[in-house]
Formats: sequence, C-alpha cells, structure tokens
Amino acid sequence: MIPPQKLPQGFWERNISRLTDMHCHLGDVTEGEALEVALTSGLTFHNMSVTPEQYFKNIERFSKTKNTRSALGLYPLYTSENSPHVKAFFEALPHCALVGEVGLDFSPDYPPPQRQTEVFKDILDTCHRLGGRCLSIHSRKAGAEVLELCWPKFNGSLVLHWYSGPCEALQNLPEHLYFSINRAMLKSRNGRALLEQLPQHKILLESDAPYIQAPSKTSIGQQLQAVVQSLALRWNLSIEDALEQCFQNTLNALKPMLQPFHREPSLP
Ligand SMILES: [Zn+2]
Repeated sequence: MIPPQKLPQGFWERNISRLTDMHCHLGDVTEGEALEVALTSGLTFHNMSVTPEQYFKNIERFSKTKNTRSALGLYPLYTSENSPHVKAFFEALPHCALVGEVGLDFSPDYPPPQRQTEVFKDILDTCHRLGGRCLSIHSRKAGAEVLELCWPKFNGSLVLHWYSGPCEALQNLPEHLYFSINRAMLKSRNGRALLEQLPQHKILLESDAPYIQAPSKTSIGQQLQAVVQSLALRWNLSIEDALEQCFQNTLNALKPMLQPFHREPSLP
C-alpha cells in the first residue's frame, strides 16, 4: 500500500468547486442528512434521471440548489415499443442540454437489443442535430455496440459512464468521447484495464451515488477525492496536478453546452 500524498491543509475545501460529479442519482437518495451534505458541499452534480417523469421531479426538487444540474434521461429499461417515456423524452429533448442516463443494456429482462439500439440511435442523431448536448451513457453488456455508435462525429460530448470494456484500441479516441470513472471501477480488474488504455485527457469523475458500495459516512466529495488520488498515483502526478487535469477535462467536455443558445433554462 502506497502512503497517500501529503496535501496542504484545507486543500480539498479550497478546491471542492473544481470537482464535478458527472453521474449520480440524487433523486434516489432519500431525504435527510446525506442529501443535505451533498447539496451544500460545493461540488457540482450532474443528476441523472431514468425517465422524463423523474427529470421533471428532479428539476422541482433541486430547483433551489445552485450546484445541481438535472439531466433528462431514458434508461434502456424504459425504451420498449409501448413505453410512454420514449415520446415524452423526445418532446423534452429540445429544451435540455444535459442528457442522461441513456444507452444500451443487453441484460436479460430488458427490451430487445434491436429496439434499444433503434431508440439510442435516434437519441444520438437528434442530439447531434440539435447540437450542444452532453450525454451520460450506460453500456452494460453492450460496451462494443455503444462504442461503435458513439465513435462517429458528434456535435456535443458523449460520456461513457462505468464503461467496462472492450478496452482495446482506445488510444485514438474522437474528440467528443469521454469516460467517467468511479471508485468501484478502480477496484475492479476491468476498470483498471480501462484506465491503462485511456489517455489522461479523456477521464472524468463520477460517484454513481447512491448505487455504489461506499464505506459508510463517505460523502460524495470524499469519493471523488479518492478517485483523484488514485489517478494521481497511476499517472505519477501530484494530487494537485491530477485534479487540474480532471478539471480541465470537465471544462472541455462541457464546452459544447456553454453556448448561451443551448443553455437549459433551469440551469443556474
Ligand atoms: Zn446511473
């Protein structure tokens, strides 16, 4: 075990605003202290939804917080032919810059892969046409398919969340493609293999809270700090420099959203 690098006192308190959690589900955190701490902690949250219905609830629930951006989502589970969420999603999409969670999941009990692919392609095409969107993308048991669909030119940013492979040929990634990394990935063989392949400028941070096993009383901020510390070791950088790299990556990934024309009206 390598001892943690020594940081100047108050380092994280001073730098908390440089952390962005690119993928979490605050809408699924029960009311209470944990949520309160998250919302007052000073870092920025990209708060996913699984249906447009949840997105609108999130907008309402977090309207008074300055550091939470709600993303419009359509989780693969809700993409079946008769799902009312698909229509609602495409109706809301022109008004939302931040999109997620969307993607593919080829686990049993999900809608047929062909149907999911059709909907996901439609989401990518529509977002590309609208421009200025940042998408957080799910790819369980469908990594190769998602990567193939996300690879071509895209007018915005595509962030692969908790991507678990295939991990070959990730060196010459297109400009618009990023990967958000969480604490559980750092502990898994797949996650470590992915990090070995990915260039530093493609890496973003996420907690996937509350769906990740974290030691009790570990805040989302502490989880992201642990990821930065681990990246610093891996990259042979100081924690300060690793944080700076992640911060710059985040700015780059969000750049397409910053054009005022595309700004979601509810964003702070
Ligand atoms: Zn998620």
